[in-house]
Amino acid sequence: MTENAAPVALVSGGSRGIGRAVVLRLAAEGYDVSFCYQSNEQAALELEKEAGELGRRVLSVKVDVTSSASVKEWVARTESELGPVDVAVNSAGITRDNPLVLMSDEEWHSVLDTNLDGVYHVSRSVIFEMMKRKSGTIINISSIAGVYGNPTQSNYSASKAGIIGFTKALAKEVGRYNIRANVVAPGYIETDMTAELTDKVKKEAAKQVPLRRFGQVEEVADLVAFLAGERAAYITGSVFQIDGGMTV
Ligand code: NDP
Repeated sequence: MTENAAPVALVSGGSRGIGRAVVLRLAAEGYDVSFCYQSNEQAALELEKEAGELGRRVLSVKVDVTSSASVKEWVARTESELGPVDVAVNSAGITRDNPLVLMSDEEWHSVLDTNLDGVYHVSRSVIFEMMKRKSGTIINISSIAGVYGNPTQSNYSASKAGIIGFTKALAKEVGRYNIRANVVAPGYIETDMTAELTDKVKKEAAKQVPLRRFGQVEEVADLVAFLAGERAAYITGSVFQIDGGMTV
């Protein structure tokens, strides 16, 4: 960050769900924000406007996080329009559930490519600048499925467990450059991803949660914003579960 300039945050999968709430929260906290989306241009433009009304510069870019070239272009554009990236939040993610016995190669690879390779591509694209500036933080959205595993989600659980291993290794590697890397592992959060569940499944799922409800995207965004900021200056390599006590 140059003197008097706002810090810059990069958020993947910002057009909807948790990523969207993170964009709004970071913009409200004074960050200039560059977020990406895959195809939902209308939602992205609306968010760009809404977050921009908070008084910060907000940039939305169509990116495919499975492509290294696409992510590199996004990061280069962000650096040239907003400045070097101080905070990177990886929220882009998909599910393609199926029991392993029925799983297709496409279902396996699309989930690993988006959820795990996407985190690698974004982190790889920002890390050198952060090392040069001896400052930065990366926050990766995993899932409790990556900690405990979920039936019919072997692809998703593998990708989310991969994110945890990746982040811990990175935290050890770049701590000496004053760069922090942490994981947020949500339980059930109300988004389009969980909207796919039937009401019956949702009701049953909520019964497994001591707080008896799904979480809100703003609650996850609060945790991400905390981890992004100075109050979390001594926290790195950690996994934060935000699941209403579901896994206790
Ligand atoms: P949503 O389905 O609401 O949003 C997904 C976001 O990712 C969208 O912005 C979408 O863009 C973007 N995206 C998907 N694929 C790509 C791609 N290839 N390149 C760029 N962007 C892409 O997801 P949630 O908010 O529910 O989930 C956010 C993260 O949190 C995910 O990593 C998910 O695994 C994790 N999580 C969610 C939980 C939940 O209960 N919701 C629980 C635990 C973890 P577009 O709008 O253009 O499609």
